[in-house]
Amino acid sequence: MALTHTIYQSPVFQQACNQFDIAADILGLEPGLRERTKRPRRCVVVSMPVRMDNGQIEIFEGYRVQHNLSTGPAKGGIRFHEDVTLGEVAALAMWMSWKCSLVGLPYGGAKGGVIVNARDLSPTELERLSRRYMQEIIPFIGPNIDIPAPDLGTNEQVIGWMMDTYSTHVGHFDPGVITGKPIALGGSLGRREATGEGVAWFIKSYLQDMAITPEKTTVIIQGFGNVGSEAALALYDWGAEVIGISDFTGGIHNPKGIDLKAALAYASTHKSLIGFTGGDAITNEELLVQPCTVLIPAALERVITKDNAANLKCRMLAEGANGPTTNDADAILTARGDIEIIPDVLCNSGGVIVSYFEWLQNLQNYYWTKGEVFDKLYRMLAKAKASVDETQKKYGCSRRTAALVLGIARVADAKAKRGLFP
Ligand code: GLU
Repeated sequence: MALTHTIYQSPVFQQACNQFDIAADILGLEPGLRERTKRPRRCVVVSMPVRMDNGQIEIFEGYRVQHNLSTGPAKGGIRFHEDVTLGEVAALAMWMSWKCSLVGLPYGGAKGGVIVNARDLSPTELERLSRRYMQEIIPFIGPNIDIPAPDLGTNEQVIGWMMDTYSTHVGHFDPGVITGKPIALGGSLGRREATGEGVAWFIKSYLQDMAITPEKTTVIIQGFGNVGSEAALALYDWGAEVIGISDFTGGIHNPKGIDLKAALAYASTHKSLIGFTGGDAITNEELLVQPCTVLIPAALERVITKDNAANLKCRMLAEGANGPTTNDADAILTARGDIEIIPDVLCNSGGVIVSYFEWLQNLQNYYWTKGEVFDKLYRMLAKAKASVDETQKKYGCSRRTAALVLGIARVADAKAKRGLFP
């Protein structure tokens, strides 16, 4: 049902709401509880004057949407991207609520976004914008209120500046306010790799269930940022052949296998894959429909649509990105029945799980080894996978709906037990 009378109205928010409705029907949530579980709790819109290197002042705009605060402090990344909208940030915040709840983290869900192409900024401009955004949201966040983290377009350095801005404001080092920090500022070992490593863990585990070996596995990855490149490396090290990669400028396709380490070195020097000679140039759209065992969208939402869903030639769709599959595409893929989908809230949950570990280490001032981090991560991923598979069998629904049923049920239950205000 199309949602009207909402400030979040947009195709991507509608997509998240439609997914919610399917799961809420299965759960039989009564209308009042259903509606307050679905709607974002609050949002902040900020405008940020920043002095540019040429001396002029430019005003940037951004958001922080807190979807759910009923199950713990809100949690979710901050996106820097030129196409950020309020509806998009709200959808991403909603997905954070279900993701945290599904894997059993004591958090609610949130997301932030700033409308900017960070590549257009100099390092000093980026620092001023990052600090200013943090300054503007300080009244609404904190280690027990809402804990931001990186997302598309933000990295450890940006998070480090934000942590410093917050700590300076409160008058002491307070790393628990944000996760994804540089190690020197209280970051956790393994956080940088965690999302991609988790994506690869699920892929390996589901391929094993399907009796597909690494030697028989080919992988195509759309998005060569933090998530895509770490997932690619983990699968490459496992023995799979990575035959396609792309970034926002375009892609590389090589059915014989891409030398991943060379591609990573090239992308880091040239800030783009264009000109890399380890395969044929290919557009992002064409890359998505090339034959492969595993397709990993690891960039923006809404890239698998009704126009390409029927043409996908993969055995498995592993959603490294949040919301990469539209509702129409989901229906087409479900009807096809020949592609295993690992839904976003499950597939990319490794990132926020290690963010949780980082926050715990910050609060306790006691730091873990990388081995401890990954050991605890894999155990949580295995538990989440088992509970999703069990729920899928119980309701005879899709894996996405099973994951959402689990995530939504806990939030709705907490709201029902707390009363009307949270
Ligand atoms: N931005 C990531 C996500 O979408 C990580 C969030 C976090 O670590 O809080 O899951």
